[in-house]
Amino acid sequence: MALRTIRIEGDPVLNRTCREVKELTPRLQDLIDDMLETMYDANGVGLAAPQVGILKRLVVIDTTGDNPLVLINPVIVEREGEQTGEEGCLSLPGKAAQVTRPQRVVAEALDRNMQPIRIEGEDLLARAICHELDHLDGHLYTEFAEGPVHDVNYDEDEMYEEEGEE
Ligand code: ZN
Repeated sequence: MALRTIRIEGDPVLNRTCREVKELTPRLQDLIDDMLETMYDANGVGLAAPQVGILKRLVVIDTTGDNPLVLINPVIVEREGEQTGEEGCLSLPGKAAQVTRPQRVVAEALDRNMQPIRIEGEDLLARAICHELDHLDGHLYTEFAEGPVHDVNYDEDEMYEEEGEE
């Protein structure tokens, strides 16, 4: 496994539409492992393939830190309710903005063995699913932001502890 470089806003790869994954290859399995490692290393709750420069419909999400989800060719099939809250993105480090998302979504996808799965997410997981799937169509949350995209001040002690776990 290896860390991949996270592409930053302004990189044109973040505005492209991704292609469906047609088959599972060892290269794709490596990509999935690298994306998970890169997401955890960056303390993110989700990462989409275009964020590491790969135009494939693949995202990884983990909102709890111990439940990695791999979604291949994901599609949202149900949306319910509304939530408005702060949202950030690993491609816009140190920034956040208010974004309204569904309170609950259901997504259908393939898992990393290309088996169909159905994921129901509420609250943060619903937000993460919507956010990561937007990346696959070249959209960043800043397009939907309500109010300014602002700086976020991370707790430095907390960041130090996270880095110390390596
Ligand atoms: Zn993002």
